[in-house]
Amino acid sequence: MMTTKMEAELFCLHCKEDTPHTVVYVGQSLKRIKCNKCGSALEIKKDKLIEHYAVDFIERVFTKPYRMTKELEGDLKKFIISLPIRIITKPYRIAKEVEDLISGRKDE
Ligand SMILES: [Zn+2]
Repeated sequence: MMTTKMEAELFCLHCKEDTPHTVVYVGQSLKRIKCNKCGSALEIKKDKLIEHYAVDFIERVFTKPYRMTKELEGDLKKFIISLPIRIITKPYRIAKEVEDLISGRKDE
């Protein structure tokens, strides 16, 4: 499947500020949002979001756009800030180590 990468200025939950992010779409679906500054990534599982968001909002954010527009960037900002905390993954490089060690939830 085709991978599309786009840049957007978004709020990072780890840096606690707006930083450049890489937004990755695989096929037609939003797959990952990664902070270019600290490397933390949100791996997105669309089916887990259905219970939290309106379907039209999910479609707008998740369907691959032709380009990163201001409107989409605004939607992504809203989306990230409103994400339920349990959907947010560990910073990416830590997550790589942790996923081999545990299958359940582990607190900091
Ligand atoms: Zn960050």
